[in-house]
Amino acid sequence: MHGYGVRADQVRIDWSELMRFKRTFTEPVPKETEASMAKAGIATFHGGARFVGRTAVQVGDDVLEGRHVAVAAGARPADLKIPGAELLTTSDRFLELDSLPERILFVGGGYISFEFAHVAARAGTRVTILHRGERPLHRFDPDLVGRLMGRTRELDVDVQVRAEVMSISSGSAGLRVHAVVNGEEREFVADLVVHGAGRVPEIGDLHLTEAGIEWDARRGIKVNEYLQSISNPAVYAAGDAAASGPPLTPVAVYEGKIVAQNLLRGNQLKPNYQGVPTVVFSIPPLASAGLLEHEARELGLHFQTNIQDTSSWYSSRRIREECSGFKVLVEEGTERILGAHLLGQEAGEIINLFALAIRRGLPRSDLLDTIYSYPTNASDIRYMV
Ligand SMILES: Cc1cc2nc3c(=O)[nH]c(=O)nc-3n(C[C@H](O)[C@H](O)[C@H](O)COP(=O)(O)OP(=O)(O)OC[C@H]3O[C@@H](n4cnc5c(N)ncnc54)[C@H](O)[C@@H]3O)c2cc1C
Repeated sequence: MHGYGVRADQVRIDWSELMRFKRTFTEPVPKETEASMAKAGIATFHGGARFVGRTAVQVGDDVLEGRHVAVAAGARPADLKIPGAELLTTSDRFLELDSLPERILFVGGGYISFEFAHVAARAGTRVTILHRGERPLHRFDPDLVGRLMGRTRELDVDVQVRAEVMSISSGSAGLRVHAVVNGEEREFVADLVVHGAGRVPEIGDLHLTEAGIEWDARRGIKVNEYLQSISNPAVYAAGDAAASGPPLTPVAVYEGKIVAQNLLRGNQLKPNYQGVPTVVFSIPPLASAGLLEHEARELGLHFQTNIQDTSSWYSSRRIREECSGFKVLVEEGTERILGAHLLGQEAGEIINLFALAIRRGLPRSDLLDTIYSYPTNASDIRYMV
């Protein structure tokens, strides 16, 4: 907005200050959570848990036996089988850094790399993202991802695709990342190399075979429609550790509640993952709910694809946002919204309205008939459907 009505001498990110502020949110959580559990009559044990029988779990010296066991062990960064993998910084460690170095390289182009890259670049760090495939952010609409990549490059983030990291070593000038980019060998040098190459269920140390629990190393504990282990009915799983819905916080919470209900009342509830929204919190954000275009095609659905660049719309122009657009899939006949993909200011909020429409099977006429507050970004919805 500089030159368009807003003046500021210097706007910059002070990373250390930001971290101190962040900790005021994160640090109280473990204590408060444990206190609320104690209040609810839940005993807590600290340490790595592992199965020692079909319904027995050991934590330190304690062996706990239950009628049921619920596993909610989450996920961890996938093992990268390359020389020097131990030099990688995890996302957990990145979020604890007291200061940012001059050069950061992200291995993998998922949402974690993009979100961190957008912050780090704006904090003055030189950022590189190396992504193995053709296009990063594979769970998002490829056309909008293309635009976000353009915007990310405008921030001077070096985004390389078809770039496979082969090894990492440490040298006097920093960490040396050896990669094959478009078939050519290249070397990148950075002060920090961050793992953004995917996460896997954290179930390796649980000794699942002791309890007869089947799992898939990439997807998690194999569960039935009630989130119950397919091979040990006394065990349930929820969240990232379960081979169930997408690995997202609200999905983990939703599944946790279903598991709790099914444990207490017998198998009654089945999860429904229709319209789960997901967001890349870059600037601008990129959001998605429902089916991607290729998924809808693979399902043989007949639909209309509404796609548009919205950078000339008032909602983008008034804040000088030059990178925005949408793609909305509307089923022919039923007029139901099959998928919504948004890039731009407030995309992370507006996607929730689409999530509701997709989940409830609302036709486009219901979205057209809604009176939206104006001038908000949500009021653009009627031009998207
Ligand atoms: C950098 C980053 C950013 C993310 N951003 C978003 C976002 O913006 N929105 C969103 O929806 N999701 C986001 N996610 C994903 C989200 O964090 C997960 O989907 C969510 O935390 C899963 O919840 P969970 O309860 O299954 O597992 P977790 O929250 O991972 O909790 C599992 C817990 O179990 C513990 N544990 C593991 N093994 C054992 C064991 N053997 N014994 C005892 N304890 C054990 C772990 O230490 C952990 O504390 C992000 C993830 C990362 C890494």
